[in-house]
Amino acid sequence: MAAWQAKPRECAAQTVRSVRIICLCVQLFLQHTSAMHLNQGIAASGTQQAIRGLKMDRSGTMTQLLGRATPRYSRCHVVNGARPPPLTARSELSLSRRSKRRKRGAHKEEMQQFAIERPARSAERPFRYLCVLDVEATCEEFSRNYVHEIIELPVVLVDLEKSRVSSEFHTYVKPTANKTLSPFCTRLTGIRQSQVDAAPTLETALVQLEGWLEAQGMLLDAPVAERNFAFAADGPWDLKNFLDAECERKGIRKGAYFDKWVNLKQLFSDFYRVRSCKIHKMLEFQGMTFEGRLHSGIDDSRNIARIAIKMAQDGCVMYLNEGLSRKPKFVSL
Ligand code: AMP
Ligand code: MG
Repeated sequence: MAAWQAKPRECAAQTVRSVRIICLCVQLFLQHTSAMHLNQGIAASGTQQAIRGLKMDRSGTMTQLLGRATPRYSRCHVVNGARPPPLTARSELSLSRRSKRRKRGAHKEEMQQFAIERPARSAERPFRYLCVLDVEATCEEFSRNYVHEIIELPVVLVDLEKSRVSSEFHTYVKPTANKTLSPFCTRLTGIRQSQVDAAPTLETALVQLEGWLEAQGMLLDAPVAERNFAFAADGPWDLKNFLDAECERKGIRKGAYFDKWVNLKQLFSDFYRVRSCKIHKMLEFQGMTFEGRLHSGIDDSRNIARIAIKMAQDGCVMYLNEGLSRKPKFVSL
């Protein structure tokens, strides 16, 4: 006679005990797995110190809120059984918006190390020469809709390969619509009436500039992707609001190479990941100071060229990041 037949009650009790032991093992195994996931998530975030508490609710779900550390991270839930997110460059914890702003402002210098190179696209190949342009124009104080005319046209040629200025072009320009400079304009730019009176008009100055560019070996007629040079300015105003607007108004032909340019202010901000700022601030950021007279076209151009050289030395790839929105009306001279 089998034992179970002899003592059926005893056998049933033994079976129940075995089932209980198995259930307990399964429960322990599940808890162990969830703890592992949690640890993985925390290790990936690198914020172990930030952990305040670990909760397990009735359903057995473990939830962890990461406490506030410096810098502050957004809330992160690590849930039982959930696969920890893949480790990406940014990790699974992202900075909150406010933290990002605080970090940007507080650690400008530190941010330099994160400077990245934007890949050059086909039409934005790196070029060897940068023609830095900073024009001065007629103006009035507190005049909103003033129609400006260029009165100084300087270009500083930067050889990006050799990290130095290789040549300079400079001419004053005679205004034709409003021939008399305001005292404010002379004070601001340092340009005297006699200097513009003796200068060529914008049309002639642009022809002179083109001759100089040719003499410097610039490939003026090459398609944009094959050009060995590009114009660069501190913002959109010089090539758009001053040069293009005046040429449009007066029907002056200008080269197609003026239509796309390097907006150095924007590129500076993108490259170093700082807010866009004025020339002297950019220089200060790079450990330099403004040399010469502010609002003198040639001095502004030289200082912008210094900024560009330092950016190139820091590993910034120059590319055409701005242009005229309309199709160019005129072909190359
Ligand atoms: P900038 O490149 O900053 O030297 O300025 C270029 C031109 O903008 C000047 O030649 C002026 O025609 C005009 N401009 C600059 N600052 C002022 C200002 N504060 N008031 C009126 N016009 C200005
Ligand atoms: Mg200027």
